[in-house]
Amino acid sequence: MATTPVLKVAVNVPLSQLFDYLPPAGTACPVPGSRVRVPFGRRSEVGLVVALADSSDLPAAKIRRVAEVLDGEALLGEDDRWLIRFTADYYHHPVGEVAATAMPTLLRHGRALDPLLEHVAATESGLQVELESLSKRAPRQAELLEALIDAGGNGIDIDTLNELIPNWRRAARSLGEKGFIARFEAPSEPPALPEPSAAQPGPRLNDEQEAAVAGVHLAEGFGVCVLDGVTGSGKTEVYLRLIEETITNGRQVLVLVPEIGLTPQLVSRFRRRLGIEPALLHSGLTDRERLAAWRLARSGDALLVVGTRSAVFTPLPGAGLIIVDEEHDHSFKQQEGLRYSARDLAIARAKHLDIPIVLGSATPTLEMLQHCESGRYRHLLLPRRAGSAEPPVMRLVDLGRSAAVEGLSEPLSTAIEQHLASGGQALLYLNRRGFAPTLICSACGHVAECSRCDSRLTVHASERRLRCHHCGAAQALDETCSACGEPMRRLGEGTQRLESALRRRFARRAIVRIDSDSTRRRGAMDAALEQAALGQADILVGTQMLSKGHHFPQLTLVGIVNADQGLFGTDFRSDERLAQSIVQVAGRAGRESRIGEVLIQTAFPAHPFWQRLIDGGYHGVAREALEERRSANWPPFSRLALIRAAAHGKHDAHAVLRAAARRVEQIGAGRIRVLGPVDAPMARRAGRCRAQLLLQSTDRRALHEVLSDLRLMLESDPAGRKARWSIDVDPVELF
Ligand code: ADP
Ligand code: ZN
Repeated sequence: MATTPVLKVAVNVPLSQLFDYLPPAGTACPVPGSRVRVPFGRRSEVGLVVALADSSDLPAAKIRRVAEVLDGEALLGEDDRWLIRFTADYYHHPVGEVAATAMPTLLRHGRALDPLLEHVAATESGLQVELESLSKRAPRQAELLEALIDAGGNGIDIDTLNELIPNWRRAARSLGEKGFIARFEAPSEPPALPEPSAAQPGPRLNDEQEAAVAGVHLAEGFGVCVLDGVTGSGKTEVYLRLIEETITNGRQVLVLVPEIGLTPQLVSRFRRRLGIEPALLHSGLTDRERLAAWRLARSGDALLVVGTRSAVFTPLPGAGLIIVDEEHDHSFKQQEGLRYSARDLAIARAKHLDIPIVLGSATPTLEMLQHCESGRYRHLLLPRRAGSAEPPVMRLVDLGRSAAVEGLSEPLSTAIEQHLASGGQALLYLNRRGFAPTLICSACGHVAECSRCDSRLTVHASERRLRCHHCGAAQALDETCSACGEPMRRLGEGTQRLESALRRRFARRAIVRIDSDSTRRRGAMDAALEQAALGQADILVGTQMLSKGHHFPQLTLVGIVNADQGLFGTDFRSDERLAQSIVQVAGRAGRESRIGEVLIQTAFPAHPFWQRLIDGGYHGVAREALEERRSANWPPFSRLALIRAAAHGKHDAHAVLRAAARRVEQIGAGRIRVLGPVDAPMARRAGRCRAQLLLQSTDRRALHEVLSDLRLMLESDPAGRKARWSIDVDPVELF
């Protein structure tokens, strides 16, 4: 007699193990990859069946039964489950939480893949109705009936009707009374993709682009290619050719883009040039829209899937190619909860699926450049701009000789005037929102600080508030000193102050500010970008939101308002980051026929960083920085993991990390370097004390062994319960 199998279930709770359950009595046993509803403590949770086993370590009487099987077939295929396991292992994160991250919200909450939805359809007698005469008497009824007749047998589901014909219910009542329409329940279908249309031809690829396409070796299975091309060199054209070849062979392509890289500009370019509708997965979608796109990917109907970070988990039964655009972008790394890098998971996934992957950037990370150097990845170069555009010219403005007033030096203002006079557009980049980053007393030097964080409050002048950019706290702007009663002074500048200075100096010009304050409203960002792209704005002011991927045809001048913020960073990645952000924003200038100019305001023109950047470009900085990393043994020449802890009391945050450090010193002695525990660079944030422990090793296996052990120890150690802790593998932020 066959024994009852034991189900190994991943449950969305912060514990690393799988949980054992018995199949429900009397129904078919769920298959691996399907979801089940299970009792968990006193709650009910949705879990994913990862495997079936013959036996359990628990006594039979203690194993509970699954309450409900949610999927008749595997929701996630074997390859998708592999990625979940891999992610949980690599990031030392609870597998149930990983599985939850991998699924769209509605599925995570137990909704059916094809939920039964109420539909409305025309009946036989409804089909006979003379629409024209009906529309004279009752136009709304005629409109509804016509839509239902057009939709065919299954009619239209109610959610769609709500969007299509907002006041349909009254008309439906009348039509229903006459027996022309009927209501019934039917499984929802994902909206079908429109039929492919004719693809518009693009420019003829130049020799370098052709070489890059050939260098990807589409037919040869797994390989990582770094497409290292200056901004405007035609990387997107290379992607388009690779996508076209892959989908022509009936295989799917996944394109990952940064958080704000998924602009309407990019999507419509894909649509136009490929003649197909991409399935889009990004944070601006409703849960339903997200599920619909996910289903189109999972069924294989969507040949092109374009999404941000979490789209890396999307099922792709016919995957043929993965592209990661702007590989260097930090939004690919999740900074909370499951701290995964979508780029790195994409590489692992491509390897598992044995398909090629292309990582594109004008400023590739040093990690990727080092892989190219060592020959593990292929380095494909596009050193020149495509078409006729020339690279922009960079020059420094010495703030020691021409001081900046409210962020603007005279040479920068003059340059703006000249560029605008000759029909160009200017972009000013300042990575600091708000009006002024500091409010200081002119008499006693008292500074307005956040009561919950180790940080200063930013002045937001137009709303007359002080805001903390770390915890979100806000208070009224009081311009007398709370310590001595003298007037407070606004020190330094954010984008709002810069904007108002520009408005005074260039009163008749159209000025548009783009930062997370100005674009909070849905659609505001797209509207502002469109205005900019159409040339309706003369001067753009913004944070790094402005620097990514956008194409502003008229833009000829870029001003970097405060470059010195990054010049003396303490992080080993400071130089790399500063060079990336300057080169990316500089790349917005002169993308068409007119040559672009980039002005960098700095109080330290003699700093060696500038010479490196101006003479050698991004690669000049990168070469030097790689040598420094090699000699200091920082990544990519070693591996890092950061253990963070936060608690109400400083002691608790440190205690858990001290326990962790002792453990690492026991089991990882000689193989792992332990740095800390120390206070985090911002030791108090949102009322919590924060500390960290950095582990460094050149032996990846040893580091992972230690982390597995550490995770289990922290889950069970009493000190681990007094603080919130997390493990960050390959951290990109060291705070
Ligand atoms: P990137 O993605 O590297 O920033 P794009 O692919 O967007 O570059 O190309 C930049 C501009 O150059 C676009 O306007 C594009 O149409 C044009 N372009 C790209 N490749 C070619 C080519 N081979 N010939 C002419 N123009 C090209
Ligand atoms: Zn705060």
